[in-house]
Amino acid sequence: MRRKSPLYESKVEYGGWTINHVQGCAHGCRYPCYAMMLAKRTGRVKSYEEWCRPRAVENALELLDAELLRFATRIDSVHLCFTTDPFMYDAEVGGPVAEVVDLTTRIIERLNERGIGVTTLTKGVYPEDFGERTRSLSPRNQYGLSLVSVSEAFRLQWEPGSAPLAARIAAARRLAEAGQRTWASIEPYPTPNIDPSSENVEPLLEAVSFVNSIVFGRWNYSKLVSSSPDLKGHYARAAQSVASWCDIHGKTLHIKKGTPLSDRYVADVLGADPDEADDRVSERRKVRADASCAERRAS
Ligand code: SF4
Repeated sequence: MRRKSPLYESKVEYGGWTINHVQGCAHGCRYPCYAMMLAKRTGRVKSYEEWCRPRAVENALELLDAELLRFATRIDSVHLCFTTDPFMYDAEVGGPVAEVVDLTTRIIERLNERGIGVTTLTKGVYPEDFGERTRSLSPRNQYGLSLVSVSEAFRLQWEPGSAPLAARIAAARRLAEAGQRTWASIEPYPTPNIDPSSENVEPLLEAVSFVNSIVFGRWNYSKLVSSSPDLKGHYARAAQSVASWCDIHGKTLHIKKGTPLSDRYVADVLGADPDEADDRVSERRKVRADASCAERRAS
């Protein structure tokens, strides 16, 4: 398939410039996937089955080169992707979809050559040799994994085509161990009636303890979620646990709007300068620590 323009500025809460070089996604998430709903609404795909058969945009590199001539000076960083998965998994083969991963890697190279940093997010796996390949890429890049549960039963039901959790975690960990900056998206975080393991978020946090930054957000717009007993309490406890854990372990944290504590944990996790986000977090952590000391002294 061909497109007219793959690069655009996203309105997503922690977004910015993004590129979508693939239509569809083999992971077939059933939360549901907003990208699939949008593709259906605009007539680009007709069914869930069609969405799960991804098609790369054939002229993506050609278009990107042309667009970078126009936009490069305005762009600090690009996120891959909001409407597909850049390191898509092929559940039948048990490994990455080679065509997608190859195109993604070439796009990252093109952007980095122009001095533009890249953030990625996947429910797939980074290939075994990707750590080696990242050595020639920008150190400003951040490689993300999406993980909302530690339960394989949950994954099979809600993210049926995605990579097994252990493989997903191991692949991101390899990049962290190779010295790359990594982050985790924990969103949409489920309720216990959907995933009993969501009662305690700590095992999930420990599973991604190697990352630099975390984005946390509740699950929205679902009858199942809104029928969960003690919905408010569940998300208040989960958000507090994530915030405390990130404070203790020195992780940059952004909590999405609509989730408890979102007003206190705002970080430009996907921003052009990740160190800047870390500095702001350290500053906020210090302010919170000072405030709690003052409270203890007053009591
Ligand atoms: S991985 Fe992302 S783009 Fe792919 S189906 Fe799941 S939610 Fe949609």
